[in-house]
Amino acid sequence: MADTYSESATPAELAQLNQLLYGFVTSQAIYVAANLKIADLIGDVPKTTEEVARATKAHAPSIRRLLRMLTSVGIFAEDENGRFQQTRLSALLHSDHPRSARALAVLCGSPFFWRPWGELQGAVLEGRSAFEQMFGASLFEYYASHPDDAAIANAGFNSASSIDAPTVVAAYDFSRFERIVDVGGGHGGLLHAILTANPKLRGVLADQPAVVAGATVLRTGSVASRCEIQGVDFFVSVPEGADAYIMKWIIHDWNDEDSLRILRNCRNAIRSDGVLLIVDSVLKPPNEPDPGKLMDLNMLVMAPTGRERTESEFRGLLSKAGFSLTRFIPTVGTLSIVESRPT
Ligand code: SAH
Repeated sequence: MADTYSESATPAELAQLNQLLYGFVTSQAIYVAANLKIADLIGDVPKTTEEVARATKAHAPSIRRLLRMLTSVGIFAEDENGRFQQTRLSALLHSDHPRSARALAVLCGSPFFWRPWGELQGAVLEGRSAFEQMFGASLFEYYASHPDDAAIANAGFNSASSIDAPTVVAAYDFSRFERIVDVGGGHGGLLHAILTANPKLRGVLADQPAVVAGATVLRTGSVASRCEIQGVDFFVSVPEGADAYIMKWIIHDWNDEDSLRILRNCRNAIRSDGVLLIVDSVLKPPNEPDPGKLMDLNMLVMAPTGRERTESEFRGLLSKAGFSLTRFIPTVGTLSIVESRPT
């Protein structure tokens, strides 16, 4: 029986399974390269193992093995002289790349984010947060008492935003609005991109006081004069009277009950002719490849009050909060824009 099974698998299928199975190796290897800033170090000039080892204070034979593994997945390339050079993929791990994923890679492999994945089975069997089980606090409570890890998380979200923000800006016409509030806008990466692309638009960044303190990108440069920054608790209220409210990666953090509290506060604050834009994954039908389904499992492990939602789940939630869903707008990235209006 076993033989029949192994003979019926193609080499390509076995290779695919192998690659999926050892995904954790790739994930952690990318994290280490990002944390040690190897892409920054290599820059435009190929480096020998010894140069990389010296600059990162690493064990030279071991960092060579790390780099060799990464070249096998297109991150860095080794030239004929044994020097490592940048590739298009490794360039995305450079801190200065406009869509740098470095901080996101650091977040994904950081111990507080990585270790709970070892407890996925408990989360699946019992429906509880692996993170809470391990650290005795919810993710946001943990951030409040661990500022170093909170800084890693905020930088990671900002990095993800710098990857997603251009796709959101390209997918939607924000120029018809006067004032847009980014509810839970983090360090302001998305708002910065929206205001830069729409020179008449004014914006408000609303997030927890400790988080907006880090919104340096909005305090300087061309958008500063068109931007207000407010520390808020969105379970209490959000800034009033704007004609557009946007929330990226917010509703997916919460169950329906908590999401409704946030949405109803938006409903109370929005102008009657306003538009609410939820930017999240919208789950695709079964069997379709979907980064949203990956993110949904991430929510189960990290913050099980959160979840990704299907089109009909968004429709139902919005209607309970006094909004009517008008459109789903896909982006070329992993997120969609769910547009609704107050009823
Ligand atoms: N919109 C940003 C950040 C998403 S992470 C982005 O797409 O990158 C979720 C955000 O919700 C965090 O910035 C967090 O500080 C914020 N948040 C969580 N609880 C909050 C609360 N009670 N009031 C305001 N913001 C809150």
